[in-house]
Amino acid sequence: MQDNQNNELTVFTVGGPDDALAPVRGRAVRLPNALQTALADRYPDAVARLLGEAMIVGALVARSLKFDGRLVVQCHGTNEGAVSLLMADCTTDGHIRGYARYDAESLKSILLDNRDPGADALLGGGTFSMTIDQGPDTDLYQGLASVEGKRLSDCAEHFFTQSDQIPTQMRLAVGQDVGPDGPVWTGGGMMIQRVAEDKARGETDDVYATAKALMSTVEDAELIDPELPVERLLYRLFNEDGVRLLDTQPIHADCRCSRERLANTLRSFDAKAKAEMADADGKIRASCEFCNVEYVFDTEDAQPI
Ligand SMILES: [Zn+2]
Repeated sequence: MQDNQNNELTVFTVGGPDDALAPVRGRAVRLPNALQTALADRYPDAVARLLGEAMIVGALVARSLKFDGRLVVQCHGTNEGAVSLLMADCTTDGHIRGYARYDAESLKSILLDNRDPGADALLGGGTFSMTIDQGPDTDLYQGLASVEGKRLSDCAEHFFTQSDQIPTQMRLAVGQDVGPDGPVWTGGGMMIQRVAEDKARGETDDVYATAKALMSTVEDAELIDPELPVERLLYRLFNEDGVRLLDTQPIHADCRCSRERLANTLRSFDAKAKAEMADADGKIRASCEFCNVEYVFDTEDAQPI
């Protein structure tokens, strides 16, 4: 594990005289160990990689929200695939988590034909959505795209082009590194977006087209290479047009579930329903799908308020 590397998001611009007038905005994320909590020991590799991609999309996009809240990335698969649900969320202050539901038998048969199935095969098509959650008592904003292509970056690009008409290029990489206690899931990603042209800025197509071509030369391994700091990668790619690093934000992998919140949910059920939920020893057990922590309640703990 790279203790010297941080889980971090870097915001940058490319081209133009200054940040405000830059024709291209971008974000890059490095997660040397933040995916580990969600992915380790819970999923077969193919599912873990796909969920890792969804979490990186969440980290890249959440930062663009203009208010405090969270971005939820969801994929719903079809019967043709093995993964029925992928869910990843990231708060605007950089807390990510995620989980997946999959069918082990269907996955086995997909792997027989395809050693390296991507998003389209694993989900069997289906939908990709991003939802903006600004907290209770606010409306959810949701957009949808169909699952096409091998990587979730294909879905995300499609989503932005379709719903916001913002030309977007995204790259994602999920890999494994060797840590002192065994393999560690690592991830990296980058996205750039063209800013619409206006009087002050002039046309923005050329710089975006160049940046896009340069970004497509990046190897997956470079997106997660611990020996290649993000600053150096960005400089190498975009230096010609002028790249400016605006700021960095730490990314944390911690779940926001709590015993108290779960107890509150349980209290909304009547005694009969709670008795049905309880195991033979009279205890109610509930696991958080995100972090797999198990909470155990006595039925009395969960009395109606
Ligand atoms: Zn949790």
